[in-house]
Amino acid sequence: MLRLDGVTKRYPHRSKRHTHPVVALDDVSIAFEPATTTALIGPSGCGKSTALRTLVGLVRPDAGRARFDGDPINPDRPARLRGLRHRLGYVIQDGGLFPHLTARQNILLLPRHLRLDADDTARRLDHLVELTRFPKAGLDRFPSELSGGQRQRVALMRALAHDPEALLLDEPLGALDPLIRADLQTDLKAIFADLKKTVVLVTHDLAEAAFLAPSIVLMREGRVVQHASYRELVERPAEPFVRDFVTAQTSRLRALETTA
Ligand code: ADP
Ligand code: MG
Repeated sequence: MLRLDGVTKRYPHRSKRHTHPVVALDDVSIAFEPATTTALIGPSGCGKSTALRTLVGLVRPDAGRARFDGDPINPDRPARLRGLRHRLGYVIQDGGLFPHLTARQNILLLPRHLRLDADDTARRLDHLVELTRFPKAGLDRFPSELSGGQRQRVALMRALAHDPEALLLDEPLGALDPLIRADLQTDLKAIFADLKKTVVLVTHDLAEAAFLAPSIVLMREGRVVQHASYRELVERPAEPFVRDFVTAQTSRLRALETTA
């Protein structure tokens, strides 16, 4: 099981006028339920990406630890970390595809590096192409020859190509047009249901979190405010901030509906 135990991360302030560090994560503990999707949500700068990056070993906490099945995810032990990283799939916001490799080459990078069985990998790629509803001809195109939505489908296939146990997604739909975004949200839901993996999804959109994740972690200023279902957030807000956050997001939705 994937978890954060008392993780604190400070960064020097980007502007030199400040003498205090930025506390990106402040004693954060989250246990991610296996085979379930958990959404990390909260205002910009509240620490969502830092939490995700800690889980994949890209951030060295000042205190506390990320763990995977009890094993510490420790950036200071690169060999151990590599083994753990291979059990995770990670997608950053813009997809992070290598521009000089075709979609297929991007997807097969890690399976080849890990010397996974070629037939298994080919079967898996077929399954992923179907799951993500990606046009097969696109596999031999370069990222610049694909649409934004197609690039994100490739990034998702790449994160899943080595059949990881957990999938970590940092605002995977953040840069997409609303219509394409809605399309991919529906597909993601089907993909998560099919694969039954532990998924951690960072988003700033409560409707997306409610649609995709039975479990939602609402963060503010580096802290976990409430870890609950959407219904509980609405019906039993832990603090006034939860109610304000929910209200702000739902009134935005209503405003969109009335202008549509
Ligand atoms: P979110 O993903 O919720 O928008 P982040 O985790 O990216 O938030 O950032 C949390 C806080 O930490 C922000 O104030 C951000 O500016 C700061 N921060 C994140 N990464 C760095 C970094 N590498 N150097 C300095 N400050 C950072
Ligand atoms: Mg972020």
